[in-house]
Amino acid sequence: MPQYDYDLFTIGAGSGGVRASRYAARLGARVAVAEERYLGGTCVNVGCIPKKLFSYAAHYGEDIEHAAGYGWRVAAPGFDWAALVANKDREIARLNTVYAKLLSGAGVTLLEGRATLVDAHTVELGGKRISARYILIATGGWPVIPPVPGAELAISSNEAFHLARLPRRVLVVGGGYIAVEFASIFHGLGVDTTLVYRGERLIKEFDADLGTFLAAEMKTKGLNIRFRSNIARIERSTRDAGSALHVALEDETSLETDCVMYATGRAPNTRGLGLEQAGVNLAQSGAVAVNADFQSSVPSIYAVGDVIDRVLLTPVALAEGMFVAESLFGSSGRSLEYENIPTAVFSNPNVGTVGLSEARARERHGDIDVYRTTFGSLRHQLTGSGEKVLMKLVVDRKSDRVLGVHMVGPDAGEIIQGFAVALKCGATKRQFDATIGIHPTIAEEFVTLREAV
Ligand code: FAD
Ligand code: NDP
Repeated sequence: MPQYDYDLFTIGAGSGGVRASRYAARLGARVAVAEERYLGGTCVNVGCIPKKLFSYAAHYGEDIEHAAGYGWRVAAPGFDWAALVANKDREIARLNTVYAKLLSGAGVTLLEGRATLVDAHTVELGGKRISARYILIATGGWPVIPPVPGAELAISSNEAFHLARLPRRVLVVGGGYIAVEFASIFHGLGVDTTLVYRGERLIKEFDADLGTFLAAEMKTKGLNIRFRSNIARIERSTRDAGSALHVALEDETSLETDCVMYATGRAPNTRGLGLEQAGVNLAQSGAVAVNADFQSSVPSIYAVGDVIDRVLLTPVALAEGMFVAESLFGSSGRSLEYENIPTAVFSNPNVGTVGLSEARARERHGDIDVYRTTFGSLRHQLTGSGEKVLMKLVVDRKSDRVLGVHMVGPDAGEIIQGFAVALKCGATKRQFDATIGIHPTIAEEFVTLREAV
C-alpha cells in the first residue's frame, strides 16, 4: 500500500467540494481542500446568496408602492446602490468565515491557492507536490460570453455583483435562469431594463406555460423583452457622453444602453488543470466525464458539481459531494436520483417547479390530465397591482400519480419545496384532493384544483 499525504484532496472549496471534504473528514478520512479564489465558491460569492439578497432588494421597491393600498403613507423612497453592495459584501465576508470554521472544525486542511493535477495521485500547489489516495475535482464553472465584436465591453453576472454605480439602462442577454433573475433585479431597482433573447420562450427547459406566463407578467411590470433577437455588435456610443454603449442587434435595429450583461450559460472550469495529462477524459462541453459514482476515467479521480455539467444547482452539488464522501469512506449508497429535482427561478414573479412538464409527461406517459389556474391573489386586491399567479398540476391518468407541480407567483420556491416531498413519495391526485388546504393562502390552490383542462 503506498502512503499518501491525504486520503482525499479536493480541488475547489465551493458547494460540492466543501460538502464532500467535511463529510469525508467526519467519516475519518484525512482531507485537504485547495481554494484559489473564495471560500464557498460561486453560490456564496457570486451566485445564489448575493443574487437572492439583490432579489429581496429589488422587491422592496414594489412592496413600498403596494403598501399604499394598505394605508401606509411612505415619502418618495430613494435607493442607495452603494449601501446594498456594501451590506451584501459584509454578509458574504461573514459566510466566508463560517465556511472556514466549518472546514477547520471538521479537521479539513484548507490550502489557499490554485491546485493542478500532476498524475492520478498527485496535485501541485504553490510549487509543492501533495499526494492523495483520491482526488476530487470540484472546480465549478465560469460564465460564457459569446465572441461578438465588442464583447469586452459587456459584463457577466460576476461583475454585476460589484458594479461601482447602478446603471440607468441595462440590456440583459439570454432567456435562462440568470437572465430573467437579473433583468428582474435591475428592473426592480429602477433601472430601465431590456431583455434580449434569441428564442421565443423564456426558461424554455421548463413547462411551456411557465415561460410564457412569466414573460407576460414581466412585461406588465414594465420590463422590455425582445424575443428572436440577439446582439451583432457592441460599441462605445458616439451619441451619449460618458460610458454609454451602442448595441447593434442582428435584425439591424439598435439600442443605446449603459451596461450589457450576458447571461448566456456557463462552462465547466477544466482548462489548465492538468486533467488531460493525468488521463482524465473530458466530454465535448469540457466537463469532466464521470460514471454514476462520479468516478472519472482515472479510477482515483472523482468530480462533482458544475464541473460535470449535469444539473447546475447548489443542492445537487451538495448531494453529489455527500455521495462521493459516503461511497469512498462510508458505506456505499444507492446511486443519486436526478428525477424530481425541485428548482426555483428568483425572477419577479418567482417560478417554482418540480417533476415533468406537460409536454415531457405526455411523451413519457401518454394519457395525462392537466389542472391549471390563473388568478389575482388576495394580497393584490388592495394594492391595485394586476399581478397574477399561475398554478399547474400534471397527472398521470392511469396511476393517478402527480407527475409535475408548476407555479409562477410569490414565494414559488418556498411552496414547491414542500410539494417536492409529496412527489418524491409518489403522491396521487386523490391524495392531493384529500389534503386539507391552509386558508387563505396561494398554496392551497394546489389541493383544491378539481377540473382538468
Ligand atoms: P463552485 O461553487 O463554483 O465552486 C468551485 C470552486 O473551485 C470555486 O470557489 C473556485 O474558485 C475553485 N477553483 C476552481 N479551480 C480551482 C483550482 N484549480 N484550484 C483551487 N480552486 C479552484 N444554484 C441554486 O441552487 N440556487 C440559486 O439560486 C442559484 N443562483 C445562482 C446565481 C448565479 C448568478 C450563478 C452564477 C449560479 C447560481 N446557482 C444557483 C448555481 C450554483 O451557484 C452552482 O450550481 C454551485 O455553486 C456549483 O457548486 P460547485 O461546487 O460545483 O462549484
Ligand atoms: P442557462 O443555460 O439557464 O441559460 C442560458 C441562456 O443563454 C439560454 O436562454 C440560451 O438560449 C442563451 N444563450 C446561450 N448561448 C447564447 C448565444 N450565443 N447568444 C444568445 N443567447 C445565448 O444559463 P445561465 O447562464 O442563465 O445559468 C447557468 C446555470 O446556473 C443555470 O442553468 C442554472 O442551473 C444555474 N442557476 C440557477 C439558479 C437558480 O437555481 N435559481 C439561478 C442562476 C443560475 P437558448 O435557450 O436558445 O439556448
